[in-house]
Amino acid sequence: MTESLMKESLGRDRIAALGRSLFQRGLTFGSSGNISVKIADGWLMTPTNVALGDLDPARISKLDAAGQHLSGDAPTKEAMLHLAMYRERPNAAAVVHLHSTHSVAVSALSHIDPEDVLPPITAYYVMRVGRLPLAPYYPPGDPGLAEAVGRLASKHHAVLLANHGPVVAGTSLEAAAGAIEELEETAKLFLLLQGHRAKILSPEQVATLRERFPS
Ligand SMILES: [Zn+2]
Repeated sequence: MTESLMKESLGRDRIAALGRSLFQRGLTFGSSGNISVKIADGWLMTPTNVALGDLDPARISKLDAAGQHLSGDAPTKEAMLHLAMYRERPNAAAVVHLHSTHSVAVSALSHIDPEDVLPPITAYYVMRVGRLPLAPYYPPGDPGLAEAVGRLASKHHAVLLANHGPVVAGTSLEAAAGAIEELEETAKLFLLLQGHRAKILSPEQVATLRERFPS
């Protein structure tokens, strides 16, 4: 269920605070990554060509309910990616997209399962991310990418873009951020375990988690 939508001024402050936190922890770098929040009359979205660690709340882009730029700086060139997630997930209140290192590394591996990229290494991964499909590679800004994400988003709140990075929707900004951070840490664990004889959660253990903590 969607939690009540955020007030615009609070949304601006929360996006800037999350951007700073992600940047300081090395989860985003340069001007990569973008964050959006649904508000009563449209969306707030991080602007194009700006570092998430240095966002001015007043200059964050505002889009109207049709997804058109209304005020603030021009929105991220990946706005279509966010709008595709919202279109397919009516309960989504926020979307976070990163080029976080370990997730991108996993997205470039040749032996991953495109229908479920990461194994259930921990309970929190199963609870916060669940199944993670891989969207095929498209050049930046290509409408094919938003279409591919849209096709997967109705069934999945987290999608990994091949040779690019994860995009995650949540019923709150905290939920979206928590899930994408869990995804990045699991990608890191997955890479650490390559070449080791790891024991992942069994199908029964995963089924128990899905039963006790339905998403
Ligand atoms: Zn991107």
